[in-house]
Amino acid sequence: MADKLFEPVSERGIFKNLDVLSPHYVPEELPHRISEAKNISRILTPVLRNEKPNNIFVYGSTGTGKTSVVRHVVRELNKIASNPESNVNKALIKTVYMNCRTGYGSKYQVLVRVLTDECLQTEELKKRPLEDRKKKDLAGINPTKLYEKLKDVVQENNLSLIVILDEIDTVKDIDDLMYTLTRINDDIKGGRVSAIGISNRSSFKEMLDSRSKSTLCEEELIFKPYNAHQLETILKYRVEIGLNSGAISEGNVKLVAAYAASTNGDARYALKLMQKAGELAESDNRKSIKIEDVKAARTKVEEDIVSETVKNLPEHQQIVLYSIADLLLKGSQYKRLTEVEKDVVFSGEVYDHYQKVSKSIHRDPRTIRWFREYLNELEVFGLIILKSSGKGVRGNTTLIKLGRKPEEIRDIVEITLGLK
Ligand code: ADP
Ligand code: MG
Repeated sequence: MADKLFEPVSERGIFKNLDVLSPHYVPEELPHRISEAKNISRILTPVLRNEKPNNIFVYGSTGTGKTSVVRHVVRELNKIASNPESNVNKALIKTVYMNCRTGYGSKYQVLVRVLTDECLQTEELKKRPLEDRKKKDLAGINPTKLYEKLKDVVQENNLSLIVILDEIDTVKDIDDLMYTLTRINDDIKGGRVSAIGISNRSSFKEMLDSRSKSTLCEEELIFKPYNAHQLETILKYRVEIGLNSGAISEGNVKLVAAYAASTNGDARYALKLMQKAGELAESDNRKSIKIEDVKAARTKVEEDIVSETVKNLPEHQQIVLYSIADLLLKGSQYKRLTEVEKDVVFSGEVYDHYQKVSKSIHRDPRTIRWFREYLNELEVFGLIILKSSGKGVRGNTTLIKLGRKPEEIRDIVEITLGLK
């Protein structure tokens, strides 16, 4: 047992600070998002005058900086609001951020989360939101009471509350939630509540009923994908603080940026790509990243992303995806057509197969209407491609192509659904 368990650590070949490449790191500066940040701060400014800011809906595809920008602006707002020197009115400003995907997928959960947020647990609040403000004490409390409690704490403290709902599209009773959050403002004499909703899905807005749509979208901000040049700036900044000098050449930074720009303009993807390339170089005991590392990293990262995306899909979408992969591997029964059009299956046969697969794992298959909805969702994630067959072939039907190799998809879903 005299062996040392830990060898003395040596410096890493590539990274000097891996944290700054992590998706959770919010950089001090967000290049190419200055006007977006300014816009949001302009919309929120009335709160410093005791007025209710408009609600904001922020959307754009993943990795376009939505979360970082909103959190950055809110961080600055909180700094001003808590600075005794600043000429802010007497109103209390509190902001509560949550990512709805991580356990706040209903109005009820959102309200509990707001009421138990630590920013509402301070002594400066005259009326404590609850006698006992622990989450467990709120469990099971009826929704009307919850609403009353929130109303009380806002009103009695003349509180300006801003609720930030990231990935808001995952809230199942979103219309109800929006209605509740606005109604508070009609029911109270002091204080105000505003919301900032963030979503990766532009189609989300269309899912709202017209009233909650106009409520949430009082202000709307679109975040566009980054182009190669913008990604390059973003990467360079991280290279400086995260990588040893000389670890990556300018050309390879450009290549990473170009790959990410041509994929989806996603900064998260670009950072992942750079990190993976660095890891590959390190595992080869090198001190600098080669072009081959970048290329290999691309394949690896794409596989990781697909597997991550699939794992996060709702169960029935996974079953549909699996059914497509499985059918493709077994071969479509409509040989003649599929010889013309390679690697496709018909939506009709997929639906049949989906029903079979569902039953085999003791799930109730959903209706065809839902099935179509799932297909659209899967297409949004780039996992499948839908095509109309045109007239003539079995009427007008939909052809489905898989965005990835069927083996890859089957292997992933088999694990996530426990089919093996
Ligand atoms: P979204 O919420 O739109 O999916 P994020 O805000 O989570 O995107 O950003 C994804 C990653 O990219 C994070 O690591 C973030 O730090 C980085 N990032 C995005 N935009 C910028 C930017 N303008 N400058 C620096 N880093 C950025
Ligand atoms: Mg985000």
